[in-house]
Amino acid sequence: MLAAVYYGPHDLRLEERQVPTIGPDEALLRVMSAGICGTDLRILHGAHRKYPEGTVRVPGHEVVGEIVEVGAQVAGLDVGERVMVAPNYGCGHCLQCVTGNNNRCANYGAIGITIDGAFAEYMRIPAPLILQGDLIPIGPDVDAAAAALIEPFACVLRGQDPLRVGPDDVVLVTGAGPIGVMHVMLARLQGARRIIVSEMSASRLPQALALGADRGVDVTRENLQDVILAESGGRGADVIITAAPAHQAQEEALRLAAIGGRINFFGGLPKDRPTITFDSNLVHYKELVVTGTTACSTSDCWRAAEIVNGGRLDLGQLVSGRYALDDVHAAFAAAENRDALKIVVEP
Ligand SMILES: [Zn+2]
Ligand SMILES: [Zn+2]
Repeated sequence: MLAAVYYGPHDLRLEERQVPTIGPDEALLRVMSAGICGTDLRILHGAHRKYPEGTVRVPGHEVVGEIVEVGAQVAGLDVGERVMVAPNYGCGHCLQCVTGNNNRCANYGAIGITIDGAFAEYMRIPAPLILQGDLIPIGPDVDAAAAALIEPFACVLRGQDPLRVGPDDVVLVTGAGPIGVMHVMLARLQGARRIIVSEMSASRLPQALALGADRGVDVTRENLQDVILAESGGRGADVIITAAPAHQAQEEALRLAAIGGRINFFGGLPKDRPTITFDSNLVHYKELVVTGTTACSTSDCWRAAEIVNGGRLDLGQLVSGRYALDDVHAAFAAAENRDALKIVVEP
């Protein structure tokens, strides 16, 4: 089979490999569609901590495929089933795992991160993924490329859980990349009153507006605070999601929030400079709730899949390019382009 294998920074090689053989408690997936995520770009740049020097591995963790082989001891999984894979699997027995938050497990593993992933024609599914319910059925009407985006959407869903977005809320999303746009789509689905998106690259705003934002703000040309006050009757934003890895966006969120506002620092900051100036009096006097979320659990993926399978949200609108596995280098180059939303590889 063909596979795209990481050998080192900027060294992704297409090579012929044996189709993986599976054990009696494992399954084999024929990959239909795999999304390229910011994490994959970080891996390729040699900046991912789970890819230390010397790592040889197939990346790819946003995947949908067809089960083509099932080990003799595996129950509840059928050949021919189309599934997405919740990529994270925890140890299965720590407090976080047993409370349904396996994304917080200190000893987590993940396809494409700690073991071979999805940029290949076939992928071995180890036992822990099967036992923890990480293979999630996809409805026949859902396009494979759209289904491959359920995992990042699950992260977005988890990110909005603590924010309780509702019909009274003016929502600000900072950053109109794929994740920012998914936050817009979900806030719309939750019935937000007004959704504002801010961006440094004006060329990214039209796609956010087309997919549900009411107002786009090019922060290089407009004053964001003026816009937020005008759009909220002078209150400020009830909900703020920082979907860009920007210090300024996090600091500004405290100022732009309405009294009683809820904020999620969704996008992490660069590891070498994770500190911001945090005006704690704004949190105190405005009774703000400031939170963070990271990745997604298996149960978040099930909830996200239910929304997509039910036709309530079409993630296919985010797909801006489809590439064969032969063209994986072109696919990664396209994913580096800031105007692209999601690029998928279809082996
Ligand atoms: Zn991802
Ligand atoms: Zn655990």
